[in-house]
Amino acid sequence: MKNDNFIKTNTVIVGSGVAGLFAALCLPKEQDVLVITKENLDDCDSFLAQGGVCVLKDINDFDCYFEDTMKAGHYENNPESVRVMIESSQDVIGTLIDLGVKFDTDGDGEYDYTREGAHRRNRILHHKDETGKEITATLLDIAKTKTNITFVTRTTMIDLIEKDNVCYGIVCYDEYGEKGAILADNVILATGGIGGLFKNSTNYPHITGDSFALALKHGIELQNMNYIQIHPTTLYSKKEGRRFLISESVRGEGAVLLNENGERFTDELQPRDVVTNAIVEEMKKFGTDHVYLNLPTMTSEEAKKRFPNIFEACMEEGYDMTKDNVPVTPAQHYMMGGVKTDTNGVTSMKNLYAVGETACNGVHGKNRLASNSLLESLVFAKRAADTIANDTSVKPSDVPEVDLEKYTSKEEIQKEFKHIIMDEIKRKDPDFYAKWCNDED
Ligand SMILES: Cc1cc2nc3c(=O)[nH]c(=O)nc-3n(C[C@H](O)[C@H](O)[C@H](O)COP(=O)(O)OP(=O)(O)OC[C@H]3O[C@@H](n4cnc5c(N)ncnc54)[C@H](O)[C@@H]3O)c2cc1C
Repeated sequence: MKNDNFIKTNTVIVGSGVAGLFAALCLPKEQDVLVITKENLDDCDSFLAQGGVCVLKDINDFDCYFEDTMKAGHYENNPESVRVMIESSQDVIGTLIDLGVKFDTDGDGEYDYTREGAHRRNRILHHKDETGKEITATLLDIAKTKTNITFVTRTTMIDLIEKDNVCYGIVCYDEYGEKGAILADNVILATGGIGGLFKNSTNYPHITGDSFALALKHGIELQNMNYIQIHPTTLYSKKEGRRFLISESVRGEGAVLLNENGERFTDELQPRDVVTNAIVEEMKKFGTDHVYLNLPTMTSEEAKKRFPNIFEACMEEGYDMTKDNVPVTPAQHYMMGGVKTDTNGVTSMKNLYAVGETACNGVHGKNRLASNSLLESLVFAKRAADTIANDTSVKPSDVPEVDLEKYTSKEEIQKEFKHIIMDEIKRKDPDFYAKWCNDED
């Protein structure tokens, strides 16, 4: 090492979203776990998830749930990953409930399962329209009490420490602009998706796919980097910044989409890519940059109770969604592709794991079924943690030399990462790039 500015731990987890936190909690308490995060602990997409989390409601739903996931994914899914996710869902949701996560119930005290696009049955648990916040805040509160888990905030991973395809740790910038190395027996990448690279996205701006750029730089296998989900319905606004999502569960509860003439033009509960394409066609036809959404099946009071955040956000723009036509437009939302893993989060580099939206184990195929993401993140984060726990291999001690001086400014590095990722998307799918990425600098 040319610089003393380094620390050592058993496992470093990059990202404090639902995937990173659940992995941390599932690792054995004998392990020292360091979780780093680019901004504050609750600044992650996991906190934004509105609609809910899928679960296998009863065993008779297995075939239907499996088929809905495969069909939404254009049958490009890895069937084994889909099977594992669905089979593990009751166990993982049971763990969440044991940990104190509250899901909404109906008048009889039974769980109130809702439905979203391309689901043939109601199988989605939710906590009002703040399911992600309820799950992630609960996990975070518990993780903070664990003596083996340490959090470091406002710290950005900028490189992997690697030699001969073995990972030894990461390089990062801390909140004071200091560079440092974290050496670890295992590295778990849980950096979320890539929305921050797009002009219009539902994601936080700092979620910029840094793991993908590093995978491309270090020859780690990636998969389906052009499988990027555009969500059909975000609240249309001329303001800069993150686009506010109007969850599919609003359409699941009866909201309709209307064109400039006030006519319905599509089945609102089709898969996201189909609905997005239908909206884009209507916008082209009428020369507009939005269509409209309206929820005629609920009163204002009912909508306010079921969708408090969404109702409030629409009201702030001057729309009561049960009475007014709310302008909505598609925006980047989710990354189906990513760092290629098996069903245990294992990547093509030794001692390196990927979980959550960063990982691509093929569960979503070409298009993610609504509310499968939180579940996928939880199921495969636990499997990665279990794999690390059961790994008895002797970790190499010949740590490669780390020259911290060679790294330029964080801003330069982020710019470089963006170009690397955008070039890859363009190479894989010039049409997608031209349609959704060509307004990027
Ligand atoms: C508005 C919205 C609504 C959604 N609704 C639903 C829903 O209803 N149901 C569902 O299943 N899914 C939903 N999703 C998708 C789901 O929330 C995400 O896919 C999931 O939470 C991803 O979790 P994650 O842990 O992989 O990543 P995230 O929660 O995005 O966390 C990524 C973490 O990585 C950190 N990070 C990133 N880069 C670096 C770096 N270089 N160095 C250090 N740290 C870094 C970030 O700071 C953050 O802590 C929604 C997503 C959005 C945006």
